[in-house]
Amino acid sequence: MDHYSRSARNAFSGLILNRKPARPAGDAPGTDQGEREAYIIVKGDEILFDELLGEPLLLSARMLEGCDGIRLETMLLGDDGQTSYFAVSIDRLPERTARCLSGLGSFQPLRPRAATLPPHTTALLGYARSVASWHNQTRFCSLCGHPTAPRPFSLAQVCTNPACGMEHYPRVNPAMIVLVHHEDGEGERCLLGRQSGWKPRVYSAVSGYVEPGESAEDAVLREVLEETGIHVTDIRYFCSQPWPFSNSLMLGFHARATSTRIRLNDEELEDARWFTRAEIPALLESGVLALPAAETISRHLFDAWYSGRVPTT
Ligand SMILES: [Zn+2]
Repeated sequence: MDHYSRSARNAFSGLILNRKPARPAGDAPGTDQGEREAYIIVKGDEILFDELLGEPLLLSARMLEGCDGIRLETMLLGDDGQTSYFAVSIDRLPERTARCLSGLGSFQPLRPRAATLPPHTTALLGYARSVASWHNQTRFCSLCGHPTAPRPFSLAQVCTNPACGMEHYPRVNPAMIVLVHHEDGEGERCLLGRQSGWKPRVYSAVSGYVEPGESAEDAVLREVLEETGIHVTDIRYFCSQPWPFSNSLMLGFHARATSTRIRLNDEELEDARWFTRAEIPALLESGVLALPAAETISRHLFDAWYSGRVPTT
């Protein structure tokens, strides 16, 4: 299996959209030109759903007509040849407009829905959430401090100061996540850690942001050492996943440990342990150990190691 196929199996991945659709000059959102427009309404980590259907409520331009103010706040995500998709962040709308939209459906957290919605829908909603989040964090120009305004038919925010006019585009934060494994006379085992804020008994692969001046592999070496005191080598890229809740691109690796003594060197993890392949089924069965949720790349990395599918080249 190639990297693309592995990444496409991750939730929020595999979205195929034309992200640079041609629009007629002077066209404005909400003016259907024969093709369909679908508006995804985002509120923090939540998406507007049609609860009866159990699906996201993709509003048409016509459905938005009663909620004025909408035309200034749409973000064009792209089109699939039949429909143009827009994100609308409710957090930046006038209260009256936001209240109008809230009345059309029910806001639901996106992440718990990732396992049940079709993969393409999950990826589209994650994309919308990421863009909406970035827009909410880019309300003022980082260069001159003036307010920004969305540019129609793009993802850009433009500084409203005529003397500046800086264009701001969505940023993605690169992060690495690594499943560290080791094999010796005690058998095969993997290194998992947990943060204090996680659900009880959940252990996951080591992760962290790539810092300036680092390759992703440099970050693997540094983060594993900082967080667990373990030295690693034989770092193998596995797949990637966009993670909409932190605007991150998770770069997934496996790595082989060259030491086994765990020392929690920083305050990132409250615990880290080695788990042998042989003991894992019983630990899961008894509830002593819980694995990361199915929609996470961490689970994908673990499953690959557990089933003997760690790349060797
Ligand atoms: Zn500016």
